[in-house]
Parts: sequence; structure tokens; C-alpha cells
Amino acid sequence: MPALRPRRDRRNRRKRTSAGRNLELKRHYRKSKLHTTNQNTSSSLRSRIAGMPKTELHMHLEGSLEADLMFRLARRNKIELRWKSEDELRAAYKFSCLQDFLDVYYAGLTVLLTEQDFFDMTWAYLETMHKENVLHVEVFISPQAHTRRNVPFEAMFEGIDGALKQAQKQWDMTTGLIFGLQRQWSEEDAMAMFDQARPVADRIVGIGLGGPELPNPPSKFVHAFERARAEGWKTMAHAGEEGPASYVADTVDLLKVDRIDHGVRCADDPALVARLAKLRIPLTVCPLSNVELKVFPTLKDHNLKTLLRAGVAVTINSDDPSYFGGYMNENFSATQEALDLTADDVYTIARNGFEAAFLPADVKARHIAALDAYWKP
Ligand SMILES: [Zn+2]
Repeated sequence: MPALRPRRDRRNRRKRTSAGRNLELKRHYRKSKLHTTNQNTSSSLRSRIAGMPKTELHMHLEGSLEADLMFRLARRNKIELRWKSEDELRAAYKFSCLQDFLDVYYAGLTVLLTEQDFFDMTWAYLETMHKENVLHVEVFISPQAHTRRNVPFEAMFEGIDGALKQAQKQWDMTTGLIFGLQRQWSEEDAMAMFDQARPVADRIVGIGLGGPELPNPPSKFVHAFERARAEGWKTMAHAGEEGPASYVADTVDLLKVDRIDHGVRCADDPALVARLAKLRIPLTVCPLSNVELKVFPTLKDHNLKTLLRAGVAVTINSDDPSYFGGYMNENFSATQEALDLTADDVYTIARNGFEAAFLPADVKARHIAALDAYWKP
């Protein structure tokens, strides 16, 4: 994404500040875990990462709308955006917190009205993933963000589902669709969404929870998650991005999730980190997103490597790639370079992704075999 590259350059020039909790955790685990030496240069790892079979488990389709597609859909649907040009929109990609980003994100998704719009958005993302050697994706959509604008549920679902089926047919890519609840709305709203989802339940792999984390704790959705599990869906929730470590713990204890989206603030509670490692509850970490939304001052301050060394099943994902400056390969490579991850680390993170995927055992094994054949020929 050349148009966004200058932004990353600026980020790299930002003054480094110390991340207290990160350093504290590093000290905690330094003596107990082996450190391997990086025998590969970052540049050779960059090309190996680009060709590596991968999975993406945490991305929001609405956050993959590139500026040019957003304006094309706006023209097609005769919608006036609050930005006059693509450049003006890109200039708005300066966020000081999660809510800053969500304001731009919710304004952008208003261009999505028809089944074709949802297909086009999904297909553009899947094409990029295919080029980046991503074998399996699990993608979020927020039905409430669309049905509340009077977009028919069927138009939203059929457009996305059609693109996912096409990717499976054309490239043998495996896919999963996750319906993300918006936590700023009520649990009754969540239940109403489940009713709408029922007719297509077998095409949905799981239920997630996104939107502004503060002040919407996991405890607000205990009944909704109970029902999601009873319906047979996998569950996950965003926690510990802007919310505290206790939200991560509550996501495990109250919502009983299969995965945690972000979760990085678990590092404030070393006992919780040890528990996540022991339970092997995967964290879908989104490094470039975390820097853009000021969860960490720079990528070098990110705690992904520390959590990995502590035995937590971390994965790398893009979150909202058009807004945060990179898709899968860029997230992987930028993180590898910033944290000096070894080749073994890169393999482990990629493998964690496949292990954490909601896939039948045989399909999972096939993807892992492809990763092994590529990484350890
Ligand atoms: Zn997210």
C-alpha cells in the first residue's frame, strides 16, 4: 500500500518512550524462558513471510474499505461522504484513541447499501489475502451497524457469503464469517440480531463483541454469550485493547470465550498472563492497529514478543487494514522487524493462527502441513 507508506515512516520517527508494563513483564519472564538468536536478516524474513501460508482471524470487513472503493460505492449509491476527496479521507486517518477511529469507521460504512456493495468489499479483501498467501480467513461483520441503517439483513449477508463461497471455489481458500455484536448497544439488541441470524446459522462460525470497550464491560453480555454458545456458535470478544486486564479476565470467566481479540492489556496482570498461557486461549493481536490507536507508543514497545515468550498463543492480524496501514504481510513483517522476532517465532505465530482457527481437524492439519512444508522443507 504505497499511498500509506509515508504514515508508517512518520511513526517510525516518533520518539520512543518506555512502556512500563511491558518492561515489567519482560523482567518477570526473562530468567525463565530461553531466547533464541535471530540468524536471519529481517529482509530475508520479509520475503519468507510474504510467501508463507497464513491465516487471518481478526479483521472487520468494514475496515477493509479502501478509500478508492469507498468513494466508488458512494458515487454508485449517490451518497455524500463527509470527506470531499480520497486524500481528505486518508488525512483523517489520525487517531488518538479507539473512539476517534470508530467515528471515521462508522461514517465510512454508510456507503454500503446493496448486496453488490457487500460482495465488492469482501471480494477486494479476499483478493488481497490470496495474493498474500493467506489460506484461511475468519472475518467480522457487524450486522447491527447495517440493519440499523435499514440495510436489509439478507443483502448484507448474501453479498458477503457469496464472496466467501467464490474464494473457496476459485482458490480453495477456507473461510469463516463471524457476526460481531456492538457493545455500545443493549443485550436485547444483541438477542434481536441472533433472531435475524438464525436462518443462516450454519453459515456463521462464531459470535464476537466489538465497538467501544469503555464503558461497556463484558458483564453486559453474559446472557447473549450463553445463548450464542447454546446455538452452537464459537465465541470471542474484544477485550484488553483500551479496557483493563480485568476485562480480559471477565471475558474468559463470564463470557467463556474460545478466543480473545487483542487482549494485550492482560500484561498488567502477570497471573492472568500465566493463566492464558496455561489455558492456551489464543489472542488475536493486531500490532499496526495497536500503534495507530495508541495502545503502544511505537511498534518497538509492543508486548507481543513478551507474551509469546510467556507461552501465550498469540497470533498476528490486521484488524482494519485500510485504516491502519497494512494487511497481513505488513503486520507480520513490521512486527518481526520492530521486535526482532526470530524465524522460529514467525513460524510459531503463524502456526498459532492455524491452531486457533475454527476449522475441522482435518482441514486444520492440511493447512499446518502446508506451513510446515514451506517453512521446514
Ligand atoms: Zn477488532
